[in-house]
Amino acid sequence: MSDREQRHRQAMQKLKSHVDERVAAASEQRGQVLVFTGNGKGKTTAAWGTVTRALGYGYRVGVIQFIKGLWECGERERLQADDNLEVAIMATGFTWETQNRESDTAACREVWQQAERMLADPQIYLVVLDEITYMLKFGYLDIETVQQAIANRPVEQSVIVTGRNAHRTLIEMADTVTEMNDTKHAFNAGLEARRGIDF
Ligand code: ATP
Ligand code: MG
Repeated sequence: MSDREQRHRQAMQKLKSHVDERVAAASEQRGQVLVFTGNGKGKTTAAWGTVTRALGYGYRVGVIQFIKGLWECGERERLQADDNLEVAIMATGFTWETQNRESDTAACREVWQQAERMLADPQIYLVVLDEITYMLKFGYLDIETVQQAIANRPVEQSVIVTGRNAHRTLIEMADTVTEMNDTKHAFNAGLEARRGIDF
């Protein structure tokens, strides 16, 4: 064996024992809270990716879309035939389009009731609260209500929260927080949002 090969083998053995140790230490089993936030692209895509993953094992999944109800969404189109998926949509579209705080608040509260039901249902393995951060930011929902519903969920249930500027409380209570970083985005170079890529 060459010197280089031997050094590589030693390094890999060391890495393996380190990884094995960490895997052995991570033995707690329970549902998790994941937050996908930041200004970069990929938050909702990552949430749907995880939905697909859970559905792949036959788990039940609930998705609440808090802001883009009127938007097309390729993942929803593809997955909605799965009986294990339930999608609830806040049907008002963007707040700067409706420009009506009262009707937006009512629409938000209505769909939040669906979220509360899902967050209390032990049959549901994963709940996605897509773009809920904006509901908190605009004051359509209060953070204490959301925090309590997430904290009191069934022990095996996981929750994904997406949206920019996630509330500090959500970051604190989360097990996993990923901040998508906006290194570059096609939109800023004048490229239109693309079907099958952006929605
Ligand atoms: P995606 O749905 O593609 O995963 P996202 O959920 O991270 O994106 P949102 O803030 O929800 O991002 O924005 C939704 C839409 O805006 C998508 O069409 C997405 O491609 C686009 N978008 C995301 N990030 C940016 C950005 N930094 N600049 C411009 N457009 C963006
Ligand atoms: Mg999104």
